Parts: sequence; C-alpha cells; structure tokens
Amino acid sequence: MKDRDDAGGTGRDVDRAWLATAVAEARTGLAEGGIPIGAALYGADGTLLGSGHNRRVQDSDPSMHAETAAFRAAGRQRSYRGTTMVTTLSPCWYCSGLVRQFGISRVVVGEAATFHGGHDWLSRHGVEVVLLDDAECTAMMRAFIQDHPDVWNEDIGDA
Ligand SMILES: [Zn+2]
Repeated sequence: MKDRDDAGGTGRDVDRAWLATAVAEARTGLAEGGIPIGAALYGADGTLLGSGHNRRVQDSDPSMHAETAAFRAAGRQRSYRGTTMVTTLSPCWYCSGLVRQFGISRVVVGEAATFHGGHDWLSRHGVEVVLLDDAECTAMMRAFIQDHPDVWNEDIGDA
C-alpha cells in the first residue's frame, strides 16, 4: 500500500476504488446528456454515504454539482469528521466551500488538468487532499469540453 502522504499524492488503494464510484456517476451523467462529473461521499468507516453527478443540464440547475448531489444524497450526518469527498474533477469554489463549511476531512480528486479548482486552498486549510491524476477522468473531461465548449464555459462561469 502506498503512503497517501507521498509527495505525489498517489493515494491509498481504497481511494482508487472509491474514485470508480465517482467515475460511474460521471458516466451516468454523460449518458443523460449532462456534464460528466461525478462524486461520492464516504464515511469515516468506509461506508458509501451518497453519490451523484453534475445535473446542470438535466435539471437546468446550475447549483447541482457532482459534489452537491453526492452531499445531498447522503442526507443528514451527525458529523463529517473523517468523511471523504471523492470527485472526478478538482472541486470548484462552491464545492470547496461546501467541504469547509461542513468539515469534510478528506478530498480525493480524480484530475485537475482540465480544471484547477480550490483543492490547493482546501489543503492549506487542513483538508487532506489526494490528487490521483487519473487518465480516464482527464480523457472524459477533455472529450466533453471539445464536444460541448459552450456547456462547459457556462458551467465554469466563463460563458
Ligand atoms: Zn462544484
């Protein structure tokens, strides 16, 4: 097992397994005609609390990001200490704020090559951040951005 605090942020084996849940959500979103970003919230004991995907297009709701969807699917939790938010893409400021607001302890990021969100900021504020630099996540986003630049620019507030 690799050390999760390794400088490269290679992540634990379980982080890769958890990322697969987020990737499956992203694929579902893509199949629905949406933006392929998925997320999952795991409890301190490794239980899957909730998962979801970006639903901006599907629901015409710009506030329904993957992390938000996973967070809402998890319902009320007594504490977020020890929980991990796994997301296919570096979290935007809105979702980074959610992580800090509720005290989510860890964030596992699939990739930050197509979009560099607030994960450095989270790391500076004591959140354990693991950047997996996952090739599949990057390829999925690159293909989507190429095919739908207008939807993507709308999503990142750069329309
Ligand atoms: Zn977001």
